[in-house]
Amino acid sequence: MKIETNGNHACTTHAGADARAMTRNQITDYLAETGCKPRCVRCIYMSEPGEMACGRHSPGHGSDSWVVDRWAAITTAEASEFQHVVGRPPTCETCVAIARRATG
Ligand SMILES: [Zn+2]
Ligand SMILES: [Zn+2]
Repeated sequence: MKIETNGNHACTTHAGADARAMTRNQITDYLAETGCKPRCVRCIYMSEPGEMACGRHSPGHGSDSWVVDRWAAITTAEASEFQHVVGRPPTCETCVAIARRATG
């Protein structure tokens, strides 16, 4: 099966009807193909310059900007530090903008 690098894959926490969790074999294939672990469409990722986005809205997985800006899943420590400093949990700016547009 061809692995879509930016498909609707989810971690086991976020898996659901529209985003399924990958099987162990798919994860192995994905790693071999892209050189990075599958990312979850709902988890938050952070770049070295400090940009944040969900798996759906961060740069193409394994793309130049993904690699150059060193995007990686936000750690629990980073998330709680963000919450402490900013006063809210880390969110994807694009998702927030879409939600804002949808509610008018
Ligand atoms: Zn997730
Ligand atoms: Zn998003």
